[in-house]
Amino acid sequence: TLAAELKDMSPEKLLAPVLSAFWDEDRSWTLDVYRRHGGYEGLRKALAMSPDDVIAYVKDSGLRGRGGAGFPTGMKWQFIPQGDGKPHYLVVNADESEPGTCKDIPLLFANPHSLIEGIVIACYAIRSSHAFIYLRGEVVPVLRRLHAAVREAYAAGLLGENVLGSGLDLELTVHAGAGAYICGEETALLDSLEGRRGQPRLRPPFPAVAGLYACPTVVNNVESIASVPSILHRGKEWFRSMGSEKSPGFTLYSLSGHVANPGQYEAPLGITLRQLLEMSGGMRPGHRLKFWTPGGSSTPMFTDEHLDVPLDYEGVGAAGSMLGTKALQCFDETTCVVRAVTRWTEFYAHESCGKCTPCREGTYWLVQLLRDIEAGKGRMSDLDKLNDIADNINGKSFCALGDGAASPIFSSLKYFREEYEQHITGRGCPFDPAKSTAWA
Ligand code: NAD
Ligand code: SF4
Repeated sequence: TLAAELKDMSPEKLLAPVLSAFWDEDRSWTLDVYRRHGGYEGLRKALAMSPDDVIAYVKDSGLRGRGGAGFPTGMKWQFIPQGDGKPHYLVVNADESEPGTCKDIPLLFANPHSLIEGIVIACYAIRSSHAFIYLRGEVVPVLRRLHAAVREAYAAGLLGENVLGSGLDLELTVHAGAGAYICGEETALLDSLEGRRGQPRLRPPFPAVAGLYACPTVVNNVESIASVPSILHRGKEWFRSMGSEKSPGFTLYSLSGHVANPGQYEAPLGITLRQLLEMSGGMRPGHRLKFWTPGGSSTPMFTDEHLDVPLDYEGVGAAGSMLGTKALQCFDETTCVVRAVTRWTEFYAHESCGKCTPCREGTYWLVQLLRDIEAGKGRMSDLDKLNDIADNINGKSFCALGDGAASPIFSSLKYFREEYEQHITGRGCPFDPAKSTAWA
């Protein structure tokens, strides 16, 4: 029914923006503009409630983590033990780096106060007096803007001692990472924040039990926390009126690749790629969709047969992939799938932190095989070898990076095995790279 409902909705309703409502407005990143659009009203409502009631409210809204895994946000907050005498921390994961994902960084650039307001609400709820934003280090303009917004919030009494007279004392530290994909993995991020080399820790214990400085810590994605103020302000029923029962609300999709109008599109969960393409202007003129990723390269790829899969956690899962970061990378018929997978795999091999053998060694060997096939030096037996190596990485690595590296191998062999075979029998790539803008 939801798919039918969404299908009949007008584009205006489908693309009713919340997080991105005033990104185009002059000086959208300032406190003044944010307040003019109802900013910090959600915080006022939260501070009038008890911390436990705020957690219950967010839990009832059904908000799920927007970093990729979709873990219920309210439940994560509830895991923080109370009365344990230890400091509690909130760490916002702003190390966005999944290939194709571009939504947290634009959000921070255009509207940093939505994140800051969400942070104050979350810290009040989990009884934390120190929060951190771990930002991707390369985005220096965003870092500057974030620092400016934090200064504004301190000056307005929204951070610091006795926030808005509520008794909450809250420090907010902005930390810039050094640009490693693995530091987006929550435990590697915590190690990096503590000043160590960023490598994943064994889980459990999850950060909720032993996180930053071994204290109970909530690690949430930027978009998850930035979604909280509007839920408090407009109500959990309003939030639940969008999306599907198990995946409610609105979200930011990153649309990229061979599309006419790439960018960030805000729409309810459960919308389909067909609808998003119709509303955004479709594929580049004269071309058709060949394959795409629902949530970045770490999620198994889809083809044009999957255009009507509802983009929510259940719909994408049932079709054999994962919603992940909602990074919709679209490739047309000019793209060589072997070349695309080789590029992605080179990325994973480069970013593998080297802690565990299946990922460190496996990604290296995948790259060697793929380069050979792409260069026309492959053998038919290499295809089984690719599958075998990916199988030895998937589920056998220390963290999700390994599984992500195996994903494009499995799915490309599933849908495009013939194209691999063409490279082998034809002794080279049948595509003209000059015609493909995405991989030229
Ligand atoms: P996960 O499912 O293991 O965990 C998700 C979250 O839930 C974590 O915060 C974890 O601490 C918490 N959690 C899970 N079980 C728990 C429990 N029993 N008790 C307490 N807390 C619990 O996923 P993950 O390995 O953290 O992340 C994988 C996801 O990251 C993938 O879905 C991928 O899409 C995404 N990803 C995102 C980016 C990006 O740039 N945003 C980059 C790479 C990967
Ligand atoms: Fe490091 Fe890869 Fe192992 Fe993760 S899977 S711990 S990135 S080597």
